[in-house]
Amino acid sequence: MVKKRYILNFPPESGDKPLSYHLVRDYDIRINILKAEVYPGKRGSLLLELQGKKENIEKGVKYLTDQHVVCEPLEKRIHFEEKKCIDCGNCTAVCFAGALTMNRETWKLEFDKSKCVVCELCIPACPLHLFEIDFK
Ligand code: SF4
Ligand code: SF4
Repeated sequence: MVKKRYILNFPPESGDKPLSYHLVRDYDIRINILKAEVYPGKRGSLLLELQGKKENIEKGVKYLTDQHVVCEPLEKRIHFEEKKCIDCGNCTAVCFAGALTMNRETWKLEFDKSKCVVCELCIPACPLHLFEIDFK
């Protein structure tokens, strides 16, 4: 069993399809919705955590792609300019998900993207503007 987070972007024509039902029934995938937004014209974006067998998750992602849903691993949508980081720690104070932490031995920032819930609070918190997150 593996757990993996994906950002899904839905075109308007996918809005009324029972996609999550098929993921559960046909691919035996457990779904946890971590963030959802709907935009004018009924485009939508979701942050989903999928849990299941690796091969089933791959098949489920292919199924979504065949339904014209853009489905990408969360890590690919987070852009962090790590080399410019000065390890000030500001972003760790707002990251309630625990994705951004300070290493107490090295006092360097550590970023575990797999824990991110795309709250986007780190974006204004960083004085050097080192974060960009592509959710929509
Ligand atoms: S968007 Fe930033 S602050 Fe929010 S969970 Fe992800 S890393 Fe943490
Ligand atoms: S707020 Fe910006 S500069 Fe400070 S530790 Fe976080 S990423 Fe690095």
